[in-house]
Amino acid sequence: MADKQPYLDALRELLAYELPPDVRERVTFLLGNPGASAYELRSACRRAAERTVLSYPRSEIVWHPTVDAALCTGCGRCFDFCPQQVYEMADGLSSVKRPERCVILCSECAPLCPAGAVTFPPQTSYHEFLKPREEEC
Ligand code: SF4
Ligand code: SF4
Repeated sequence: MADKQPYLDALRELLAYELPPDVRERVTFLLGNPGASAYELRSACRRAAERTVLSYPRSEIVWHPTVDAALCTGCGRCFDFCPQQVYEMADGLSSVKRPERCVILCSECAPLCPAGAVTFPPQTSYHEFLKPREEEC
């Protein structure tokens, strides 16, 4: 029989995070039920871990554009296009004023820049950020 202890430990840790009520209820129920199987514990653990990823502070997720000021011509396309008001125009140049408002994995403004001044981190960086958290259980 699979060892249940690692899942029980992980579930107790996950309770410290913000979780939807139904997930929290299930985790609490399983922790108080000695008859819970390793499979049930592992499933609950994965679900709770996924939810903690979704509630991870946006400020700690590195996903936003970067403007190369040496290339920017100040055409304003990025500023006009972004519905999230991520960019600001000042002194004839664009800059990233509100990076935390950028939609994670959106990069639609980059190809609009005629100067090639807008870049994003590789999408793999975000998936690498998620992986250890998803694999906690
Ligand atoms: S990627 Fe999308 S949300 Fe982010 S700055 Fe560009 S247009 Fe705005
Ligand atoms: S689209 Fe490119 S060149 Fe135009 S303002 Fe934005 S960063 Fe600068």
